[in-house]
Amino acid sequence: MKNKNSFTSCLSQRQLLELDACTQCGECLKNCPVQDVTGNPNISPPEKIRMFKEFIKATDGLKPMLFGKGEIDRKLLEDFTRAVYECTICGACGRSCSVGIITERLWPMLRKEMVRRGLGPLGAQANIPGAIERTGNPYEKPPAERYLPWFPEGVKVAEKADIAYYAGCTGAYLAQPMVKGDVRVLSAIGEEFTMLPPEDEVCCGFPLFITGQHDMLKDLVIRLVNAYHAKGVKTLLCSCPCCVNIMVKDWPLFYGKELPFRIRHITQFVEDALKKGRLRFRKELHERIIYHDPCYLSRGVGIIAEPRYILSQIPGVQLLEFERHGLDSRCCGAGGAARKVFNENAIAMGRLTIDEAVAKKTDKLVLNCPACYEKVNEALQGHDKQITIVDLMELVAELI
Ligand code: SF4
Ligand code: SF4
Repeated sequence: MKNKNSFTSCLSQRQLLELDACTQCGECLKNCPVQDVTGNPNISPPEKIRMFKEFIKATDGLKPMLFGKGEIDRKLLEDFTRAVYECTICGACGRSCSVGIITERLWPMLRKEMVRRGLGPLGAQANIPGAIERTGNPYEKPPAERYLPWFPEGVKVAEKADIAYYAGCTGAYLAQPMVKGDVRVLSAIGEEFTMLPPEDEVCCGFPLFITGQHDMLKDLVIRLVNAYHAKGVKTLLCSCPCCVNIMVKDWPLFYGKELPFRIRHITQFVEDALKKGRLRFRKELHERIIYHDPCYLSRGVGIIAEPRYILSQIPGVQLLEFERHGLDSRCCGAGGAARKVFNENAIAMGRLTIDEAVAKKTDKLVLNCPACYEKVNEALQGHDKQITIVDLMELVAELI
């Protein structure tokens, strides 16, 4: 077992250098959505980095070796843990960081360290591993009902195919219009696709990764990769940005080698189909619509142009942009599993997104992530500003 006293064992060499490189300039504060709604300085990137470096100084290196390890105040550790879990890990701070710290990858590792010390995760986040163990999903929903309530009638799923579709837990249980839209659009494109049986389509591992609870990750990834491999899959499609993010960035690491298939976000597949004339919009939409970039899709894996291309092909549509969009997108509040504990922050952030869309006199707010879909819809309830929220594939499915 790694030395529990060391604060550095979850960090890569690059991340250790990143901690050292932070100049405390505060550039990153300009775009932090949690700062926007809480004003709490503890959550700020320079403060989190400063605190964590204090912990390292007290336990690692020459001074502690010569003079003994310092005691770290329990309250400080708890304050830090709260701060690192209140952050939505949206990565906007990394985008504006003057020394190039990749915060989207750093914060989850600091969470992992706090889990190793028994200080994290917080509240309901601690139920995630047990729920996945019992039901295959973090919401503890019945596996047999994973596809049943939303799967469109008459759509055929092949036993084996080159293409597979992974619905993901949040879409399947909490954002069903989105996954229903995905399947309707795939079916309209007309290329055969396969899916795993509902009890085998287990969690992609993202909620475990992002909350720092890594114990089950390797097993989940190997189980899923082997199941798709056995179906002869060459391309795995998914619409959830968090799933796609972990599949692209971390599945090969947990699998131990290159994946035997490629991962594509559904918008990449649909963009291709439109360009090749295999999908066509048959209806017009004379509306002003605005597209919100999910953090893990835009900053996470660089998918920015594809959804815009799809929307631009709808006859009659006028596409608007948020002030912060593309790589600079502002988190809708649903990120980092922080919503499980700090739901008020998430609602407040979701309402900022709604307010800006309304201020721009938009007819529809188009989302492209099941977590955004669930949380921004919740934020809409009881809010003084109202707008129609729609998922991108839900919208496409209605117009083809
Ligand atoms: S990742 Fe997002 S929420 Fe967290 S500190 Fe950075 S900007 Fe703020
Ligand atoms: S912008 Fe980068 S270097 Fe500056 S305070 Fe933020 S994390 Fe540190």
